[in-house]
Amino acid sequence: MAWDFSTEPEFGEQLDWVGEFCRTEIEPLDLVFPGAAYSRDPKAKALADPLKQQVKDRGLWALFLDRDLGGPGFGQLKLALLNEILGRYDSAPVVFGTAAPDTGNMEILAAYGTEEQKRRWLYPLMNQEIFSAYSMTEPQGGSDPNLFKTHAERDGDEWVINGEKWFTSAGARADILIVMCTNGMFIVPRETPGVEIMDYPVLHNHIRYNNVRVPADHLLGPENGAKVLAQRRLGGGRIHHAMRTVARVKLAFDIMCERALSRESHGKIVAEHQMVQEAIADSYAEINMLRLLVLWTAWTIDNSSTQQARTQIAACKYTCAKVLREVSYRALHMLGSLGTTNLTPLQAMWASAPTMAIADGVDEVHKVTVARNVLKGYEPHPGLWPTEYLPAKREEARKKYASLIDADPGLAAWADRAARHATLGR
Ligand SMILES: Cc1cc2nc3c(=O)[nH]c(=O)nc-3n(C[C@H](O)[C@H](O)[C@H](O)COP(=O)(O)OP(=O)(O)OC[C@H]3O[C@@H](n4cnc5c(N)ncnc54)[C@H](O)[C@@H]3O)c2cc1C
Repeated sequence: MAWDFSTEPEFGEQLDWVGEFCRTEIEPLDLVFPGAAYSRDPKAKALADPLKQQVKDRGLWALFLDRDLGGPGFGQLKLALLNEILGRYDSAPVVFGTAAPDTGNMEILAAYGTEEQKRRWLYPLMNQEIFSAYSMTEPQGGSDPNLFKTHAERDGDEWVINGEKWFTSAGARADILIVMCTNGMFIVPRETPGVEIMDYPVLHNHIRYNNVRVPADHLLGPENGAKVLAQRRLGGGRIHHAMRTVARVKLAFDIMCERALSRESHGKIVAEHQMVQEAIADSYAEINMLRLLVLWTAWTIDNSSTQQARTQIAACKYTCAKVLREVSYRALHMLGSLGTTNLTPLQAMWASAPTMAIADGVDEVHKVTVARNVLKGYEPHPGLWPTEYLPAKREEARKKYASLIDADPGLAAWADRAARHATLGR
């Protein structure tokens, strides 16, 4: 029987270790030194690097990369189970070498980079010796890549890039920028003359590329191949977001359930009020529906490819945004006034729900992908009625019993009566 929802014991032990490690090492670090795991400050590194080393020693570093791309080759399903824990803690993804935007950039470097490009950028990224950013969206529109204008012009042994990008996450602190041009994907060291980073937004940068010159070998993948690379990059990123969202909604759920059992109102504990029970029951079902969708998608990627799992990945993307919105809101609401403050993780979690519906592609675009792909498996019905129009189906089915019915008028009458009651009589 292949439908097995259990985790193999060996990996289960790893997950137990991860849970304990996150609780006892990463959470305290996040609470006392927020951002230390990302920092280049030597004092912060002295705190975070030993934790990263422990992860490496357990063979859990950079788990997102398949073996053929230079990673441990655990696959997306195991990564999903791991991310169900990591997503609960701010800096856990970076301590485990699986943090965006570097993960997606590493994936395309691993898949499309030359040996020299891997040596210069992929391996240092894997070791967090350098950091990267992904420059795709432009100010005039993000959802439609046909609107992008940033272009690279070949000039001798160099490419000259001109254009303007918007919302390049962590662009200002990245060592390299992966820049999507209309005619290819390019690796641009941030210090290259002509890279102009605007003051705002602070975290997701607005960048102008003014006659930025990079050597010819900074083209990543084939010329004119940027859209293919972008799909590959974003496909992986979207499912990773969904995996981490499972962790976050479980956290919201834990907070909600604990609170419901801890307070009284109108003569009973809050958990005994039916509307509260409805909130808990709906959240339980929605979280598990999301979780199974994510795990099934991860399993599909492992057994086929990111490309073949495209419809499922798109469904994960807007479903995780929706479940995050619903469950974090219910949890926040359950905590009353406390929920509206930033004294628990809930307010930030709820505030992040709209972001989840926009980052890596807006919900609408993913819904269009799902509907279009799903509809490829259907055809219009040939006549006036749907295929499932019961009177027509019944007429067709009667042909199977024609000899019996023709030979026995009583049986024919019985069939007519029964059919009128079963379908036509309503
Ligand atoms: C937290 C965060 C991090 C990000 N990081 C990066 C990054 O590192 N690099 C990068 O390049 N970009 C990044 N982005 C940008 C992101 O890719 C874009 O925001 C996204 O593609 C949407 O583009 P837009 O913001 O221009 O919105 P628009 O494309 O203008 O869409 C706005 C709204 O218009 C409507 N709409 C648009 N298209 C359609 C459609 N086809 N059908 C129906 N309705 C539609 C929807 O209501 C949509 O929400 C990030 C965004 C966020 C929020």
